[in-house]
Amino acid sequence: MSAAGELRALPGVDRVMAALDSDMPHALVAEAARAAVAEARAAVQRGRPVPSFGDIVEAARRNLGATRRSRLQRVINATGVLVHTNLGRSPLGPRQLQAVVDIASGYSNLELDLSSGARGDRHAPVAVLLSALTGAEAALVANNNAAAVLVTLAAICAGRDVVISRGELIEIGGGFRIPEVMAASGARLVEVGTTNRTSIRDYAAALGPDTAAILKVHPSNYRISGFTAEVPAPELARLAHEHGLPLLYDLGSGVLDHDRAPAFAAPEPAAAQALAAGCDVVLFSGDKLLGGPQAGVVAGRADLVRAVGRHPLMRAVRPDKMTLAALQETLLAYLEGDPGSLPLWKLAQTPEDALRKRAERLAAQLKDRGRGAQAVPCRAVAGGGSLPERTLPSWGVAATEPEPDAMVLQQRLRQGDPPVIARIVDDRVVIDLRTVDPEDDPTVAAALASALSAAP
Ligand SMILES: *Cc1c(COP(=O)(O)O)cnc(C)c1O
Repeated sequence: MSAAGELRALPGVDRVMAALDSDMPHALVAEAARAAVAEARAAVQRGRPVPSFGDIVEAARRNLGATRRSRLQRVINATGVLVHTNLGRSPLGPRQLQAVVDIASGYSNLELDLSSGARGDRHAPVAVLLSALTGAEAALVANNNAAAVLVTLAAICAGRDVVISRGELIEIGGGFRIPEVMAASGARLVEVGTTNRTSIRDYAAALGPDTAAILKVHPSNYRISGFTAEVPAPELARLAHEHGLPLLYDLGSGVLDHDRAPAFAAPEPAAAQALAAGCDVVLFSGDKLLGGPQAGVVAGRADLVRAVGRHPLMRAVRPDKMTLAALQETLLAYLEGDPGSLPLWKLAQTPEDALRKRAERLAAQLKDRGRGAQAVPCRAVAGGGSLPERTLPSWGVAATEPEPDAMVLQQRLRQGDPPVIARIVDDRVVIDLRTVDPEDDPTVAAALASALSAAP
């Protein structure tokens, strides 16, 4: 056949679509078919043989599968990483979700003061709770902590110097780098000390007429150990205040108060203690160890928080009503002394023995189905840039069959329905139950059995 004849022999998109017989939206099926036919045409033009109709339909089906998998969907987190940024960080509990449903399915007093009938402040309801929890004079909320840091620097420090230790010029995942955020805010970075050691004299020597603030940043996702020194918050606050300057502290993970947080979070700095130590503004995430929705809290001195609230960027990064509804219920759980009701804390506080029993039960169920599996002890982590050196004892299920290869098994689990995201430890796929809701155990068992029995 001539090249032109071969191209004419390729099926039309309509025929491929008909063969797919998919219930996905027409436009998506059409795109999957179009891409498969285009790929076949390109191959023929490169001198390859004309693919069979069946091959083209298979390619279109794969395209459609990839489109379906690219949808935002529920997955089972079997990684043992509690705050997994790629998996949406903190899960929300029934109470938080109900609040979102109540507020978002109808109208709300989002910006209406019900007492006076005047325009209200969307931050006010959570600000009251944040003050009660942390002792802050005032608070407001941005879309996430990166935005909170950006607006705070822009509002308080633009055009002036911000003094920070070289040991705290950190990068968090996802492109959040302190020097770059600083540049975007219009503040000038003044680095002091060295990577491993910064003293109070280093800070003092850098303060001058152009200084707007001292910034302390919690190096969330790593630890410098060995010959190190950092200046504790109270000492730094004293120095800042002697010079009439505010001390800003980016806490990262969002522990509210050591006296209310589960013991697991103890090594992280907490908002209440940082403010009590003299910090003027603290900043933290809503969806890390706080266990709430994505948000960034700015809390501290009323005049500074007010300045942040008035900055034009604040309008661009303000949270929506669903976030505020979920955050309000999260904060209420703490105020009522019940943070253990938050899914993140439930998972973190599940006794090791309960995890072991579940792992043994799952392994037994898999053996009953003729699949090789074993309960194994493992270590879970907080993740989300917090507690980098802390691990939590956990239990998981490991496949003991030599086939398929761990990477293949991991991929099959990831492409299942629902996807199960597992990790590989010592060349074996391990389903870490620390991050799995017990109600999902049967689903996990079925997913593992089917991934193990699929043809290699
Ligand atoms: C995680 C983190 C941020 C970014 O917070 P997001 O809520 O992800 O925007 C900023 N600073 C520190 C120290 C962090 O740990």
